[in-house]
Amino acid sequence: MAFADLKKQSKLGSLTEKLVKEVEKMNSSGSSSDERVWKLDCDKSGNGYAVIRFLPAPDGEDLPFVKIYSHAFQGPGGWLIDNCLTSINQKCPVCEHNSGLWNNGTDAGKEVARKQKRKLTYVSNIYVVKDPANPENEGKVFLFKYGKKIFDKITEAMQPEFEDESPIDPFDFWQGANFKLKAKNVAGYRNYDSSEFASQGALLNDDDALEAIWKKQYSLADFMSPNEFKTYEELKKRLSSVLGSKNTRIDEEVEEEDNYRGSTKELDDDLRSELNNLKPTRPAPVEEDDDDALSYFARLAED
Ligand SMILES: [Zn+2]
Repeated sequence: MAFADLKKQSKLGSLTEKLVKEVEKMNSSGSSSDERVWKLDCDKSGNGYAVIRFLPAPDGEDLPFVKIYSHAFQGPGGWLIDNCLTSINQKCPVCEHNSGLWNNGTDAGKEVARKQKRKLTYVSNIYVVKDPANPENEGKVFLFKYGKKIFDKITEAMQPEFEDESPIDPFDFWQGANFKLKAKNVAGYRNYDSSEFASQGALLNDDDALEAIWKKQYSLADFMSPNEFKTYEELKKRLSSVLGSKNTRIDEEVEEEDNYRGSTKELDDDLRSELNNLKPTRPAPVEEDDDDALSYFARLAED
């Protein structure tokens, strides 16, 4: 861009406008600004509908889904939002702390343990067949994060309860079935009970197209890579900071900033008092199931 054009834009305020738009985009996609991840858009009343197809295991991987536990709760020292180490069969300091609370013999202990418990998320590759709210997603491959309710529907399809139903592999390109994802609002929570598999059949009658889809799939194994997890020690440190008092935490963070910034003391004092005067954030959610926890954080990020 020519310097003169930069100046012209300055007059028109279009750069600011652009920046505002970018910031809005970042805020609205929030913690899941990950463009690989598809989400069901619901209307104001909480209803949403889409048709998706669960895809086979990506090339070189064994499973068409991964199962991740995570913790997400607020303590006096802020939010703890981290993957749980039990996802990769390791000891988790947060879970250990929770079982202590659970077993301390008080109702209060149980309640806190419940609030801080690990939450389950599955991740699969999907092909979006129909997305009325965002038609531009149709025909594309995404990652999809879902909870136990939807996973149970998959399990039921693989192991039907009644004799007259034949088992299907929902992840199969040819013998699988599309999934009609239906969300509604039940007592303030997003509910997927009405979702169901359509009848069995090939996703597309074109193996070349299917192969192209398969090659576009994202690695699921990457979600289980050690980089996705704090170490036991790191998580333990984060836990005590979150459970500690707010003022202590903020002073610590400001001190950490001092170490590499080396800026004026005056600024830090201002920052410290500003941070210490922050109003507490909203109370932690009551979570009924994993999907709801996810949508809670999505909402939180959108605010
Ligand atoms: Zn844990």
